[in-house]
Amino acid sequence: MSKCMAVNAGSSSIKYKLYEMPEEKVICSGLVERIGHDDGHFVIKFNGEKKEETLPLPDHSVGVARILKALLEFNIIKSYDEIKAVGHRVVQGGKYFSKSAYFNKDTEEKITKLIPLDPLHAPAHLMGFHAFKDALPNATAIAVFDTAFHQSMEPEDYLFPIPYEFTEKYDCRRYGAHGTSHNFIAIEGEKYVKDSKDKRIISCHLGSGASLCAIKNGKCVATSMGLTPLGGIMMGTRSGDIDPSVYYYLCDEAKLPYDEVYDILNKKSGFLGVSGVSNDTRDVEEAAAKGNERAKTSIALWARRVADYIGSYYVRLGGADLIAFTAGVGENSAKFREEVLKRIEESLALKIDYEKNNELHGKEGLISKEGSAIKVAVIPTDEEVMIARDCMKALEGTL
Ligand code: ADP
Repeated sequence: MSKCMAVNAGSSSIKYKLYEMPEEKVICSGLVERIGHDDGHFVIKFNGEKKEETLPLPDHSVGVARILKALLEFNIIKSYDEIKAVGHRVVQGGKYFSKSAYFNKDTEEKITKLIPLDPLHAPAHLMGFHAFKDALPNATAIAVFDTAFHQSMEPEDYLFPIPYEFTEKYDCRRYGAHGTSHNFIAIEGEKYVKDSKDKRIISCHLGSGASLCAIKNGKCVATSMGLTPLGGIMMGTRSGDIDPSVYYYLCDEAKLPYDEVYDILNKKSGFLGVSGVSNDTRDVEEAAAKGNERAKTSIALWARRVADYIGSYYVRLGGADLIAFTAGVGENSAKFREEVLKRIEESLALKIDYEKNNELHGKEGLISKEGSAIKVAVIPTDEEVMIARDCMKALEGTL
């Protein structure tokens, strides 16, 4: 038995989950947030209890120290040596990583090289890594990349039709994201497709960030996010794919600097921008139910984009055996799933059990009926357990 910590360090927060492995038992979980502020927030949950504290969190290392102190304080562990491995989620692995890697000097150098591709998260991942490494020098550290699962794509799926020298010189191509989640769906979805020849899964990770992935025999064939997580379908605040001229036109017509327009496409578009209500689909759903036209339009726009990607991945995979809904919206919202399903059921010969769809919130289950040409399921994702599993592989020397 080994204790492994899954860590997701962002620019102002660190989420963590401590596992007993290989049992995959969650020992405790929580977060520190508002790093950089005097009124930082610390949370730990264990044995059905939740403890919280407000404290100054000047930097990531103070946050990590608070997390580790709590493990001893609440008798969750007796000594830090019990934590054998720490797995860090890293958003961008670029062309360098097609699987998780030991977090050594070489890995750190590559992540540093990739900062231009992910200026928001990469420095935070490195800060999180150093804070844990200083506090737990004996624990094995690994990096688990959101992009790694997508490295199996063929050039026709990852190249952009731009001058090839830009692709080569700047590594400007599709990398995708949410790969750890799509990989989890590939593994969990296996039981629904085990009798199918090519095990074709269309994984729909629909959260506030969202992407789709076409999976064949456990490997990614195509994914919707692009060079960065701005691409693909419309999201909470991100536009997803648009005609690139929109960018130039807005800079020119609205007389806005290019970085402001980029910020608008990332943070003020999607559900928030179209509905004018919120980036949270629960608020948008409520407003639409009360008759807000822009909220209704935003839902239709989103569902159309998800449906179109499913159609395109159906063609890419030569058919499909399973469509899986996951993440915040995909797991919890019957209404949003229904909006997508209504747009694909006839053309893909689906038979949907809408009553079952209405009953499923945050739980796994089939929502298609017997006789549906493709199975449709809700599968709650678990990126942290994937990190913990790779920690175990690292400890066993099979990473
Ligand atoms: P991320 O990790 O990208 O922040 P999540 O996968 O946690 O996103 O999804 C969070 C989003 O899920 C929320 O912003 C909200 O829009 C949506 N969500 C959660 N529960 C529901 C629900 N019951 N109905 C509709 N949307 C929901």
